[in-house]
Amino acid sequence: MDKIQMKTPLVEMDGDEMTRILWKMIKEILLEPYVDLKTEYYDLGLKHRDETADKVTVEAAQATKKYGVGVKCATITPNAARVKEYNLHQMWKSPNGTIRAILDGTVFRAPILVKGVTPFLPSWKKPITIARHAYGDLYKNVEMTVLAGAKAELVVTDKDGRETRQTIHTFDGAGIVQGQHNLDASIASFAHACFDYALTTKQDLWFSSKDTISKKYDHRFKDIFQEIFETEYQEKFKNAGITYFYTLIDDAVARVIRSEGGYIWACKNYDGDVMSDMVATAFGSLAMMTSVLVSPAGVYEYEAAHGTVQRHYYKYLKGEPTSTNSIATLFAWSGALKKRGELDALPRLQAFGEKLEKAALQTIADGVMTGDLYQLSSLPTKRKADTETFLKEIAARLEPLL
Ligand code: NAD
Repeated sequence: MDKIQMKTPLVEMDGDEMTRILWKMIKEILLEPYVDLKTEYYDLGLKHRDETADKVTVEAAQATKKYGVGVKCATITPNAARVKEYNLHQMWKSPNGTIRAILDGTVFRAPILVKGVTPFLPSWKKPITIARHAYGDLYKNVEMTVLAGAKAELVVTDKDGRETRQTIHTFDGAGIVQGQHNLDASIASFAHACFDYALTTKQDLWFSSKDTISKKYDHRFKDIFQEIFETEYQEKFKNAGITYFYTLIDDAVARVIRSEGGYIWACKNYDGDVMSDMVATAFGSLAMMTSVLVSPAGVYEYEAAHGTVQRHYYKYLKGEPTSTNSIATLFAWSGALKKRGELDALPRLQAFGEKLEKAALQTIADGVMTGDLYQLSSLPTKRKADTETFLKEIAARLEPLL
């Protein structure tokens, strides 16, 4: 077979630990033999981020903006332990946070349902898609530790130099303080992305926040959503037979647990971060969750929803066998290739992405799976495959489809 050709390069962002190992294996076993891969490569591995003072992350985000489609491997967000482990110059910020801040937009995460793996909540019959606002809040915060006796204030200086001031707290003892922000324009584009996605996928849209406690900040989100819905989407939703409703996050959590699934749950940045892990885990495995950042300018960045699977990496380094689930990382690649195929009018590339996903799910349905799924699967014929064997089994099912 002659290799499938590409026109525009994909922005390829390599990452850390076990997912970096998966990245290489996926390329070697499932992509390079069939596709003449055209990528612009950025190494977002922690070592290289440190060497470039994190400039590589910014460059990768800018390249994604330029070309329109990127695919990203999971990366370490350093904490104190990582600073020591990698002897870092600085505790660099979350690369995902940096990329999201540059691209703006909304992250849509949906579980990949597969035969033989039933959700922990038997009432969940359909996927729950989490739409996570990808700009601001905790991820663009500024924070400080504060000594006893200090007073923290919130000061806003308007364009004419006038100050508005509020005391946050007068500290009797030592403590911490944090400042967060968001932008009306970003919230509005988040709302548009959610309403549009609901219409495209014909699913109800829920949005939740904590407006009863956060009467200005969270309330602003609620108001912007409501206004955009009423002026631009109410009629379209009615015609499509779908609904939008807002509820407090506490109430949303209770409703989600009791629901059947089959809707989009829009969440603020932090809520979406946490809830997407909860939803993924309850549906089966974190490694069975697709994730795509859609920017208002129409830029797409695909990634896995999970982290770098550190524990498996240390086993791998010791030469012990691993059985790491590559599905989410593989779907990041297939999603990006399909989107590139769509944008560049390359039907062969698009079809390849689809066949790759089909072969991957067929492999699991045939009973061949990684350890995380093995524990959950009800298939009587199930057998556990190691990391590399699992990918080779997918390749064996992909070949006849091509
Ligand atoms: P993790 O997602 O790597 O692991 C959480 C748990 O899920 C672990 O028990 C792990 O074994 C299991 N798991 C996750 N993916 C799996 C897979 N593909 N196959 C089998 N089991 C899997 O998250 P963590 O342990 O909290 O974080 C590890 C590192 O990943 C941290 O340094 C963190 O900063 C980073 N992280 C990166 C991203 C990202 O880049 N998108 C997201 C989350 C965490």
